[in-house]
Amino acid sequence: MASQIVAPKTLQEAIVLFSDPDKCHEYSASLRWPDGVTCPRCGHKEHSYISTRRKWFCKGCKKQFTTKVGTIFEDSPISMDKWMMAVWLIVNCKNGVSSYEIAKDIGVTQKSAWFMDHRIRRALQDGTFEKLSGEVEVDETFIGGKARNMHIEKRKRRITGTGTHDKVPVMGILERGGKVRTKVVPNRKKKALQAEIREHVEAGSALYSDALLSYEGLAGDFAHQVVDHAVAYVDGRVHTNGLENFWSLLKRAISGTYVSVEPFHLHRYLDEQAYRFNNRKLSDSQRFEQAMNNINGKRVTWNDVTGKDGSRATWLN
Ligand SMILES: [Zn+2]
Repeated sequence: MASQIVAPKTLQEAIVLFSDPDKCHEYSASLRWPDGVTCPRCGHKEHSYISTRRKWFCKGCKKQFTTKVGTIFEDSPISMDKWMMAVWLIVNCKNGVSSYEIAKDIGVTQKSAWFMDHRIRRALQDGTFEKLSGEVEVDETFIGGKARNMHIEKRKRRITGTGTHDKVPVMGILERGGKVRTKVVPNRKKKALQAEIREHVEAGSALYSDALLSYEGLAGDFAHQVVDHAVAYVDGRVHTNGLENFWSLLKRAISGTYVSVEPFHLHRYLDEQAYRFNNRKLSDSQRFEQAMNNINGKRVTWNDVTGKDGSRATWLN
């Protein structure tokens, strides 16, 4: 099925396209199989199409399949138009979208929306392990601290016990002009932070951090320079402003949109924010199609597909 359907450019075009069941189906099949429909179970290319059920019958394995088989949408009774609308909202709302808003906007229960939201977020994580290089900023921040708005029992649970209270340490690593990676870390000690740096940053890269003692000892493997706020003017390149901007975007999204993020789920929200940041140069329709590619199990980026500049693979954490 060679689709002539053009990607929607705006939210309004997306609504119109996705709400037409035949066009929505044709479009999702063309995103899944740009080179022609292929059985997701056996890879066979010969099949017959059962238009009344929007399914194919594979002549290889003799089983039926839909566009959902083998993706995060499989086994879900929620229709593709709603799934695609949810993906559009998640990847294109700059400050994030809550599952409450998704429920309201696409007409599913809040429980369904929560489920969809988390499945989509998980799918946006990309399994690429390419290291960051060039000029790299590292920094940490704390997320949370809204205990006063919590129910008293929850608040007691959260605040008693460990000394970290309700705040969760998050580490960020940013390649200037490139991608950011974020991770919830157990603490800000040397072992935890340096392990992340060594895992994610190519040896020999220029590394900029603040004066936290946990970063001491990296100079052997990296060109490590510490931000000294007193003498920052000496070398204008030694700063972590890129990450500080990312943290402020992240905190605005979390406090404005998600109301309260349970620490258990924080990494998914971090991934979502990193995904939007890392794909900030794409248009809404490119970001949507790239997300659908990730969801469909392809490890390629929009740039890989179009051969445009910056063909580095996408990753999230
Ligand atoms: Zn088959």
